[in-house]
Amino acid sequence: MSGHEVSLGNHDWLERYDHSLIRVFGTPSLVLDHGDGAWVWDVEGKRYLDLVGGIAVNALGHNHPALVAAVSKQAGQALHISNFFTSPAQIELAERILSLAGGPAGSGVFFANSGAEAIEAAIKLARRTGRPGLVAAEGAFHGRTTGALALTHKPAYREPFEPLIPGVTHVPYGDIDALRAAVTPQTGAVVLEPVQGEAGVVPGGTAYLQAAREITAEAGALLVLDEIQTGVGRTGTWFAFQQAGITPDAMTLAKGLGGGVPIGALVTFGADVTGLLTAGQHGSTFGGNPLAAAAGLAVLDTIERDGLLAHVTEVGDHLERRIEALDHPLVRGSRGVGLLRAILLAAPIAPEVAATARANGFIVNPVAPDALRLAPPLVVTREQVDLFVDALPMILESFPSHPRSQS
Ligand SMILES: *Cc1c(COP(=O)(O)O)cnc(C)c1O
Repeated sequence: MSGHEVSLGNHDWLERYDHSLIRVFGTPSLVLDHGDGAWVWDVEGKRYLDLVGGIAVNALGHNHPALVAAVSKQAGQALHISNFFTSPAQIELAERILSLAGGPAGSGVFFANSGAEAIEAAIKLARRTGRPGLVAAEGAFHGRTTGALALTHKPAYREPFEPLIPGVTHVPYGDIDALRAAVTPQTGAVVLEPVQGEAGVVPGGTAYLQAAREITAEAGALLVLDEIQTGVGRTGTWFAFQQAGITPDAMTLAKGLGGGVPIGALVTFGADVTGLLTAGQHGSTFGGNPLAAAAGLAVLDTIERDGLLAHVTEVGDHLERRIEALDHPLVRGSRGVGLLRAILLAAPIAPEVAATARANGFIVNPVAPDALRLAPPLVVTREQVDLFVDALPMILESFPSHPRSQS
């Protein structure tokens, strides 16, 4: 039950939303009340299978007992202290992240509250090399704060806020020669997503990440991997870079790390990189507070204890096989890694398909005009994925089927 005294429906709440919130998100599609695992319920009591997971945030799904217990326990001890002090939870989470990431001696973690803030810390790290240039990729999404926005590529996000910080070059994603040509002695860092999530779930691929590692090492620039969406088990390994067999100089985390409690992190690999930021050069009031740190520990513990990395690979591969086997004229296939996937449509109908899916009890994200993104909780089951794939032909029924392009 919602627990609200007056039981209002989606429509009534959304009307109030329109009169009380800055409309940067337009009008949301639903007013959600609560969830359990991969299920969520709206304020009218209608149930949905949540295949977006708060955009790759709800790693353990909703209402996971381990996360609820950890957050409740920490709330009864101390929600917040300040960075004049530290807490066992903060230190343990930093140690856990470094060990899972294989950070060598001297590696370190800075805790922030969001992805964009983790990127801001990475930009400051890059500035400390003394080289002002930054190289990012076309299609990149690194956040919306004004520093991070300079790295984000989409003109519609950037242009209303220019001038942004100077010195950023965008190169075609996946193009090794273009990357090599763009990195100069003035480049402080190359910042890349291992899989571009917001661009429509586009994997960079092993060869590209390995080349980025080589090019930056030769040039003396930092390689910063933005694992805000791909990290914390999303692709079937703790971090996506581990599948490419490389180690970056730094990595950013956020989304899945707190399982829904806001937290971000900049991870620096090795003493030389860690030492670029010294006392007084960065800070955050809330970053890494005991509540967020306890949530992060519960997420990492649960992923490990429940074998969720193998589960992500298994369910992700199952989803891919099911999509490939659909043989529907409107479905071109799928793209992605682990439980970060896009279903590719043969026409630019993704927003309408997502709306129809929602009406049928499935939450998916139209990440591009012709792509539906799935980033479900890591605990989603094969059976739940099957519910959606089985329903997809029915969901697509109201859309005219164009024959596959005949060449
Ligand atoms: C979501 C995201 C961000 C921004 O994170 P916020 O918490 O929204 O600031 C940055 N980079 C990537 C790859 C993301 O997916």
